[in-house]
Amino acid sequence: MSFGLDNLPYGVFSVDGGNPRIGVRLEDQVLDLAPLLHDDVFLEPTLNPFMARGRAVWRATRARVQDLLADDRCAEHLIPLDRVRLHLPIDVADYVDFYASLEHASNLGRMFRPDEEPLKPNWRHLPVGYHGRAGTVVVSGTQVRRPCGQRPSFGPSLKLDIEAEVGYVVGTGGTGSFEEHVFGVVLVNDWSARDIQAWEYVPLGPFLGKSFATSISAWVTPLDALDHARVPGRAQDPEPLDYLRRKAEWGLDLRLHVSLNGETLSNPNYRDMYWTPDQMLAHITVNGAPLRTGDLYASGTVSGVDDPGSLIELTWNGAQPLKSGQSFLEDGDTVTITATTPSGLSLGEVTGRILPATLR
Ligand code: CA
Repeated sequence: MSFGLDNLPYGVFSVDGGNPRIGVRLEDQVLDLAPLLHDDVFLEPTLNPFMARGRAVWRATRARVQDLLADDRCAEHLIPLDRVRLHLPIDVADYVDFYASLEHASNLGRMFRPDEEPLKPNWRHLPVGYHGRAGTVVVSGTQVRRPCGQRPSFGPSLKLDIEAEVGYVVGTGGTGSFEEHVFGVVLVNDWSARDIQAWEYVPLGPFLGKSFATSISAWVTPLDALDHARVPGRAQDPEPLDYLRRKAEWGLDLRLHVSLNGETLSNPNYRDMYWTPDQMLAHITVNGAPLRTGDLYASGTVSGVDDPGSLIELTWNGAQPLKSGQSFLEDGDTVTITATTPSGLSLGEVTGRILPATLR
């Protein structure tokens, strides 16, 4: 079942312009948690106050909801999905974007630096990442305006792209283990203006080519729903430093489906990623920087050998256009990313439509 009792992702919804509040998705319905569980934390407009309560509460709440639904004691609190509006489920504290796919990093290295080794010397030693812009994280369905910038002449980006990623939502602050801190998983489309990015990224990395919008799915899948999808992480050579050593299996078998205007572009699997999310979390905090409730960190583009998660790889930077003739996003295009686990559990979708640039 896509959204059965074993899934139960959390989101924020409103009905008829009312206050946004917290619900859990069951099939094509939303379970209104505040009246069901008699807890005002579910009347909040984001998941942050609930997430801040910690893993023991997340587990107990999930078990209670599963019991109530199994006993059929929720009917009066179930609302059809088509009656609700979905909102950004978290107040994003910090947003960090990694670069954890060996295939993606190698492909971009070959394109951007054709005369060098595709991977920089540090790449196999640490999960490379950068701090992104938390304030432009938007919920699935939000329209995305084509950015303007230096490419290097000024104008609307001519190489607007997608990055199909998997994101991790931090529930509790401090420093500690992945299982303790991470509340759940979202799908991410990290929109990228490749022409702006190519001009600006040396020497300090991605900036305005990335910061205009990052879309996330409206539903946050609890980590506890993904136990059956856990797999060993991909083999790593050289062996990472002690603080990056894996203590548990946190590779995830998630088959992504990336589509453009309804046509399939690619089906990368997240299990092929080189760096796993527990390693990324260990890396974020190793310098002493504490986590905060609402932190979001994303995997970087999920690309397999034959299934790239970006247009720049699919079209080799425009050298091999798609069947439609286009290589990058056109105004009016809609991109949708979905994902499923081996048992058919759905991680929902992240979708967005491109609006024309507004010249400044
Ligand atoms: Ca990215």
